[in-house]
Amino acid sequence: MIPNAITRFPQFPVFKTLKQCTQVHAYMIITGLILNPQNPKKLLLFLTDPDHGNLHYARLVFRRISNPSLFLWNTFIKGCYKNHAAREAIDLYREMRRSNMSLDMHTFQFLFKACARAVAEREGMEIHGLMDDALRVFDEMPDKNVVSWASMVAGYAQCGRGQEAVRFFSEMILVGVKPDSVLFVSVLSACALLGNLRMGKLVHGFLEREGIEMTNNLAVALINLYTKCGDFVASRQAFDRMPQKVLAAWNVMVDGYCKFGDIRSASLLFEQMAERDILSYNSMIIGYMQSNQLDKVFSLFEEIKAFGLKPDKFTIASLLTACANSGSVQRGKSLHAYIEEHSIERDIFLDTALLDMYAKCGRIDQALHVFQGMREKDVMAWTAMISGLAMHGHGRPALDIFSKMQSSGIKPNDITLIGVLSACSHTGLVKKGKYHFNQMPFLYNLTPKIEHYGCMVDLLGRAGLFKEVEELIETMPMKPNGVIWGSVLGACRVHNHVSLAEKAANHLLVLEPEKDAVYVLLYNIYASGARWVDAINVRKIMEERGVQKIAGLSSITVDGTVHEFVAGDRSHPQFEELEAEMRAMAIKLREVGYAPKVLQVALDIDEEEKEGALFGHSEKMAVAFGLIRLSPDEPIIVMKNLRVCEDCHLVIKLVAGIYEREIIVRDRTRFHHFRDGNCSCMGYW
Ligand code: ZN
Ligand code: ZN
Repeated sequence: MIPNAITRFPQFPVFKTLKQCTQVHAYMIITGLILNPQNPKKLLLFLTDPDHGNLHYARLVFRRISNPSLFLWNTFIKGCYKNHAAREAIDLYREMRRSNMSLDMHTFQFLFKACARAVAEREGMEIHGLMDDALRVFDEMPDKNVVSWASMVAGYAQCGRGQEAVRFFSEMILVGVKPDSVLFVSVLSACALLGNLRMGKLVHGFLEREGIEMTNNLAVALINLYTKCGDFVASRQAFDRMPQKVLAAWNVMVDGYCKFGDIRSASLLFEQMAERDILSYNSMIIGYMQSNQLDKVFSLFEEIKAFGLKPDKFTIASLLTACANSGSVQRGKSLHAYIEEHSIERDIFLDTALLDMYAKCGRIDQALHVFQGMREKDVMAWTAMISGLAMHGHGRPALDIFSKMQSSGIKPNDITLIGVLSACSHTGLVKKGKYHFNQMPFLYNLTPKIEHYGCMVDLLGRAGLFKEVEELIETMPMKPNGVIWGSVLGACRVHNHVSLAEKAANHLLVLEPEKDAVYVLLYNIYASGARWVDAINVRKIMEERGVQKIAGLSSITVDGTVHEFVAGDRSHPQFEELEAEMRAMAIKLREVGYAPKVLQVALDIDEEEKEGALFGHSEKMAVAFGLIRLSPDEPIIVMKNLRVCEDCHLVIKLVAGIYEREIIVRDRTRFHHFRDGNCSCMGYW
């Protein structure tokens, strides 16, 4: 019948393949050359085929069919699912429900899967009412067989309702239906979902007693159960017993090891795999990322490309996160280009990862650009933008975005509010910060958590409102932790508030005796008040407890290579050139009246050792290196592991003015944008 349609339009050339035929047929329907598809079933089946079809055409053709039959709905929903448009499948279901279509169990099975995929792809949670509708259909079924029971158990398991899946399973056993291996797969995955090892073991014992044949799927479900529950002895046993180890089994094992942080076992297995798919790589990439082996993350990406595998959005998002963590904007940019060249499907999830990468790599302008281009935004996307702006000290724009978010009907969550409060704190917007904090329960239906109290302590402390800080700490419903006292101590140092600093430090020396920051801060507070006995005492305690100071480390990326600098380290191959540049810099700085703060130098204990001249600081070295190697129109982006010290902050501010360069420094807490002799932080950091 399709060739008929074509012979009626002789101006179309003869088509050699069914594919071309069908696409043209669809095209003619869409453009109105044919008003009604004559064999919609066949056409839709073809167009929704993920290998040869075209979901876009299928969509348009489907919309041209008046009163589509249940079969057509089913075909289309299935097609959406197969083409990874789980969300669309779910929307279609909603539409079907509105048109009072009676669904059958088969349709539900695909919806269950679509639902599971939507959950897995973080696109949304369970569709409201789906399982209840399914239950109604199930209840009305005259004779329920093992397949219909299995669908329900699977449905509950796939929709993330493990408890009900297990309950349904027990009910089925009670009414005397004999479960098959497919059903055991579902119930085991429900146990895995619940993390209920005890119940999982019971089911395992039960299936062995029933003499159920150990299929590959069943073995994988067992391995999955045991890895999810962290019982790697049992999961390894199930894995080793498989005569033919299928790819899924390898993947589950590797993923499990990675998730539990056993990266060594994971990589050992990974190396043994004869065949790998993108899922295997994705697990390994996340594993390496969590163990901070970023070089391996990127070399796996090269491997993926070399083997001709197609990275999916999860691969790319993980890589973007790796770029964000290492602050390498060049790599991030090339990934952005890769997404565009290889038409990787853009969605909220991927766009948010892209936005976050730019924000964390210092390119807030690019982050905004991505954000503005997003057609749809969820709470994660809005939050990433707000936090990004906050980190860069753009408090007011962050609050503007926050109010836009609310007027677009998206409800903020805990993390959004952390972004909002830190935006206020990094910009000194005390009133606004207090307002949002106090209104949390009323406007946003959120109870302030310790993180929110931390932001407030930070905000009030930076502003020097120590009475309010103390009141807040006394009235907060939870016990203040190290972060809270750390903020207090930091603020005390800036404002030279010695008595409160001592109080905070005493708490910290108990809560976090192993962290170097508290000793350093306390030492400096005593030193600037010339309380030398106390200062030396702090140093003694630090030595007695064997607390090591973290070395200051700054990095800068030039032509895709990361250059790292440690204070006083002369090992860089271009050190001589660097030293000459720093000397020239020193002369220019003196000309504009800069004098190093000698007092701090003499103390020899700050976040970074004062190595010889002040120019030994790592961030100054990185900036000087940027001046030599980057072209004048490129911003100099430096990442530092510690807080930027006062002296470096001043020097970089001056350098940005003298050399007319844009310099961006990311320190432990925030970004500093230096331009025209000013910094975006306006002294708040
Ligand atoms: Zn410094
Ligand atoms: Zn600054």
